[in-house]
Amino acid sequence: MTTSVIIRGAGVVGLCVASELRARGAAVTLLDPAPGPGPQACSWWAGGMLAPFCEGYTAEEPVVRLGQEAADWWQTHGATVHRNGSLVVTLARDRAELSQFARRTSGHIAVSGPDLAALEPLLADHFDRALFFGDEAHINPRMSLETLRARLISDGVAYEQTDAAPSAQTVIDCRGLAARDALKDLRGVKGEMVILRAPDLTLSRPIRLLHPRFPLYIVPRGDGVFMLGATQIESGERGRASVRSVMELLSAAYALHPAFGEAELLEIGTDARPAFADNLPRIRRRGGTIYVNGLFRHGFLLSPALARMLADLVLDGQIPEVMDEDHS
Ligand SMILES: Cc1cc2nc3c(=O)[nH]c(=O)nc-3n(C[C@H](O)[C@H](O)[C@H](O)COP(=O)(O)OP(=O)(O)OC[C@H]3O[C@@H](n4cnc5c(N)ncnc54)[C@H](O)[C@@H]3O)c2cc1C
Repeated sequence: MTTSVIIRGAGVVGLCVASELRARGAAVTLLDPAPGPGPQACSWWAGGMLAPFCEGYTAEEPVVRLGQEAADWWQTHGATVHRNGSLVVTLARDRAELSQFARRTSGHIAVSGPDLAALEPLLADHFDRALFFGDEAHINPRMSLETLRARLISDGVAYEQTDAAPSAQTVIDCRGLAARDALKDLRGVKGEMVILRAPDLTLSRPIRLLHPRFPLYIVPRGDGVFMLGATQIESGERGRASVRSVMELLSAAYALHPAFGEAELLEIGTDARPAFADNLPRIRRRGGTIYVNGLFRHGFLLSPALARMLADLVLDGQIPEVMDEDHS
């Protein structure tokens, strides 16, 4: 018998869960008030880094381990995955930060001089050493969400534009921060980002600039477009970027390479990442509703693993390692 599932929320989590369930034969209906991927979802503002090893600097072991599934999953599901690794650099005066980052992460090699210049010629004049995380990847998040959604629809998944709560036997709630009405321990962690166009500058991979006060990453989106991110502020506010944050992001980009001073400012964006107290995701069952939430800064990195676990639970009754069923 075919299992029928209703999914509330078509951000990155909802779309990944729908893809996994559909691939395994379930009949899936997606509900979302928006017509498709867009600025209403936190996923719209993401950098698209699939960087489990770098995230291990602050994140716990499951993020590093489960995040290693992400690049293959996105590729299998039609996204263009850039497998060029990522680089971590710091200004000379903050060199201790680079050593500390190296000690607390794995999956990197130290590069300097001509090796660094060969990887990223743009950085060669301003940085003499870096950590290279060769197994990391990145995607364009907006294009990848649209690709997933289009594939689901052509695969027979129904998409209904509504915010109404369905009365069905199995509902998967993937509403991100909107699920705070039911998940009282879910909080928002504000992230501000900027999109620039600098057609004369080329980077092949995400670069992280370590800095004691405002760490920055910059993700190339192709055609001279770059995403700069991101602040991390304890606040559920979703719509307002502050002058201070934007100034800090832009100054850090300028420190990475002064030519970013000539870039065109295309977009300033902000949203609040849905997170639990330990910043780890959860699958939580309450009656007929299963919540998949708390992806924090790892929506694109961890949704593939969460979707796999969710499908194992719904279709095969396997309890996921991130389940906390008894929480109320
Ligand atoms: C600046 C920034 C940079 C980031 N960079 C990265 C990164 O590089 N890599 C990474 O892995 N992660 C990154 N993240 C984190 C990632 O964006 C989040 O973890 C992810 O978006 C959370 O996805 P979600 O599907 O849970 O929520 P959302 O994307 O917010 O999706 C929730 C969906 O639910 C819908 N919804 C709301 N109410 C209802 C309702 N009543 N009924 C039905 N649907 C409803 C909304 O319309 C929305 O489409 C970043 C986040 C920010 C803010």
